[in-house]
Amino acid sequence: MKHIKVLGAYGTKAKGFGTTSFALNKAHVIDAGNLLDALGEETLDIQNIWLTHSHLDHIVDIAYIIDNYFEQRDRTLNIYGTKATLQALKKHFLNDVIWPDFSKIQLSNGEMVVKYIDIELDKVYTISQNESIKAFETEHTVCSCGYIYTKDDSSILITADTCSLDTAIQEIEVNNTIKSIVIECSFPSHLEDLALSSKHLTPKLLFSFLQNVKRRDFQLYINHIKPTYIIEITQEIEQYKNDFDAVLVKDGENLHF
Ligand SMILES: [Zn+2]
Ligand SMILES: [Zn+2]
Repeated sequence: MKHIKVLGAYGTKAKGFGTTSFALNKAHVIDAGNLLDALGEETLDIQNIWLTHSHLDHIVDIAYIIDNYFEQRDRTLNIYGTKATLQALKKHFLNDVIWPDFSKIQLSNGEMVVKYIDIELDKVYTISQNESIKAFETEHTVCSCGYIYTKDDSSILITADTCSLDTAIQEIEVNNTIKSIVIECSFPSHLEDLALSSKHLTPKLLFSFLQNVKRRDFQLYINHIKPTYIIEITQEIEQYKNDFDAVLVKDGENLHF
């Protein structure tokens, strides 16, 4: 069975809890919420970061992995995302005010430290002989996407931050290679108004959307919870999951597909 590794599983930083990132392999990660703590010097192997959106809990460690091992770095770090996501990074984050603009700085071998690469939604990008990745649109307070990562003939779908599962469900229904899905769930159901205004999901919302899926032959992983609500959300997942096999994701775990 194939797997990806959860480097950070949660929707906000807390002592002992990392924010969103997944290692697809040594060189490719989705989001950069918790790279340094999880990988240390192995972050030097990361050559490609696929961003879901521009929120801090998904981008913060881009700043630190470059800074920490600058001298040892010998390859450009490619940052992939939608045009809007990358524009937000350039304008508001790596902008020479909050942190250096690494796209203007060279490594000792003359290559640029960072390169930004716009991606198109629904386009399949081949990342190795037997691996590919595809972004699909999701619904959040800023431009956002989820990803489908395929290795050989199996796929895992990651929604990232969203308040709707419409596009994810379309993908799941037409793509039988999808064996596992990772859905965000940020708040307990008593905070539904807050969840909806910040465009996130609660257990109640998540499982009411999932009832529309005709398939049941996939593993369901749930991530991006706010650690303060871990007990309440765990109880609610049990309460609402029905016939879904739902697993709450933790830092450091492997997700199989
Ligand atoms: Zn987030
Ligand atoms: Zn977000």
